[in-house]
Amino acid sequence: MRALRFHGRQDLRIDDVPEPEAGPGQIKVKVDWCGICGTDLHEFQAGPIYVPSTAPHPLTGELAPVVMGHEFAGRVAAVGEGVTDVQVGDAVTVEPSIRCDACVACEDGRYNICETRGVYGLSGWGGGLAEYCVVDRRNVHILPPSVPTDVGALVEPLAVAWHAVRNSGFEAGQDALVVGAGPIGLALLLCLKAHGARWVGISEMSAARKQLAGQLGADDVLDPRTDDVVDRARKATGGTGPHVAFDASGLPVTLETAITAVRTRGTVCNVAIWEEPAPVDMQLLQNGEKTLRSTLCYAGDDYPEVVAALSDGRLSPGALITARVPLDEAVDGGFRQLLDNKDQHVKLLIAP
Ligand SMILES: [Zn+2]
Ligand SMILES: [Zn+2]
Repeated sequence: MRALRFHGRQDLRIDDVPEPEAGPGQIKVKVDWCGICGTDLHEFQAGPIYVPSTAPHPLTGELAPVVMGHEFAGRVAAVGEGVTDVQVGDAVTVEPSIRCDACVACEDGRYNICETRGVYGLSGWGGGLAEYCVVDRRNVHILPPSVPTDVGALVEPLAVAWHAVRNSGFEAGQDALVVGAGPIGLALLLCLKAHGARWVGISEMSAARKQLAGQLGADDVLDPRTDDVVDRARKATGGTGPHVAFDASGLPVTLETAITAVRTRGTVCNVAIWEEPAPVDMQLLQNGEKTLRSTLCYAGDDYPEVVAALSDGRLSPGALITARVPLDEAVDGGFRQLLDNKDQHVKLLIAP
């Protein structure tokens, strides 16, 4: 079968690899759609970062080249021995977490922070940028008929945002500021509204993303080049500032905006992946007894809750999909397209 594999920095290839078969307790998924994530772009441009390149991954035992793609959905092509609650033909989305089942985090059900965690599509065991991928039964979530598989490929970034909202302590009726309207920032906007947010402001510079934020229900779309984001957020929230501010950009200036804008005793939640250590103004935090916390991936009920919210219409993320590209064109029409025209895209899906 054809698969897009990471061989090294700036070196992605469409390779012919053996088709995987489902072993006991496993499910073989025929991939319909797989999204390209910021993490994938980072890996392509500056990697290997997550892809094991000098020592095999402790759980998969694999080294580059590995199949990429961790945001995917499709149909069940085969089930392994012992799998009785999933049928061939079922539409499914894949939760790509690989975990050890032995560390303290895993024992706590928090496998997103497993000490040796891995990800299908980065750490080995295949991925979604291939015609087929075999995963364990527990990594598969059945999609109801109301959720098509292209939307199923958006469950992964939505689950990141869903987990962040839960982790932040946000409650229905509260106000929130999101700094950055990339895929995760926009997913945060949708998840905050699904959790009953009263006001969601979003700060962004790209024209296309600002337009989409408005279309997806942001109460205020702010541009830090022309708007005083902190002042506007205060005015929109009765002078106090939002209860929670999410940094979905990962720059010193965006973190400072989030810390300054959030109300006293409010929470700043870091969702961004940082390239370098961040300078944090501790005095800004302390003067307002503000809390800084962080969130990573998803675990437990996050995937099932996102699928349920998609099914009953609390989440409508279809507008996030800005392009669809066949696997053969995934390098130039997918990865390079996203890097060269970042402003024009949110989520680009590959069809293997
Ligand atoms: Zn991702
Ligand atoms: Zn673990």
